Amino acid sequence: MKQGKILEIENVTVSFDGFKALNQLSFSMDAGELRVIIGPNGAGKTTFMDVITGKVQPTEGKVIFDGRNLRRLPEHKIARLGIGRKFQTPRVYLNLTVRENLDLVCSRNKDVFPTLFGRPSAAEMRTVSGLLETIGLEAKANLPAALLSHGEKQRLEIGMLVAQSPDLLLVDEPAAGLTDEETDNLAALLLSLAKSHSIIAIEHDMEFVRQIANNKVTVLHQGSVLCEGSMDEVQNDPRVIEVYLGQPQEEIQQQELEKVSHESSH
Ligand code: ADP
Ligand code: MG
Repeated sequence: MKQGKILEIENVTVSFDGFKALNQLSFSMDAGELRVIIGPNGAGKTTFMDVITGKVQPTEGKVIFDGRNLRRLPEHKIARLGIGRKFQTPRVYLNLTVRENLDLVCSRNKDVFPTLFGRPSAAEMRTVSGLLETIGLEAKANLPAALLSHGEKQRLEIGMLVAQSPDLLLVDEPAAGLTDEETDNLAALLLSLAKSHSIIAIEHDMEFVRQIANNKVTVLHQGSVLCEGSMDEVQNDPRVIEVYLGQPQEEIQQQELEKVSHESSH
């Protein structure tokens, strides 16, 4: 794993027609950290990821990844530098089996000729079987991905990202739409990956955050960092409480309703 600062963001502003989705945001993270980023809807969490992956260019400020300024680099070059991003909806090949999905990314990252003209080498098989074990899908390796549950698809996609050995792994609201059991499995997977990867997990679901936040939590609000600290510290910070309680009333009621219907379905 890399050493030192894996990511440094200095005074980044992103304006959309004058509206600042990110506003003079500064952020820094050490290699090897599992950093959780929380914040109410519209806080700028997804834009924060967009600016790291090059999907959106900052209007002002800079993003430094592993000592390198990402200014004006296109998305695919940034990905090749070692930043892997997991989007909210799983992007896996539904008609391929779990193993085939993993084979595809594993061979894409090596010399293509041996796999085009022969059987996968032992090293590749080990990689794929190692990944199947990591994501807990060994028993479903030969099933088409279409037959997986939503949570299993999420884990498969994370496995496909890990196969590309990113130095920094970004996951945006991975627990959205998962059952409690799937959420637990996903939390366990992220915690085990955190032993050998730098990870940023953006999350809205506080229960999930409590499960994975073993280190520092960063709270975003109105495009800036509101505060940072341990889960306990930020949860008890009056500014954080205000920001979360300050959401429109319907939204809180809606979240409560979802919680109740979710709980009663178990
Ligand atoms: P979060 O992920 O925390 O919910 P986002 O980063 O998606 O927040 O959005 C932050 C704010 O920026 C929101 O008010 C959103 O409406 C606005 N925004 C995001 N993307 C765009 C865009 N492409 N054009 C205009 N406004 C945008
Ligand atoms: Mg978002």
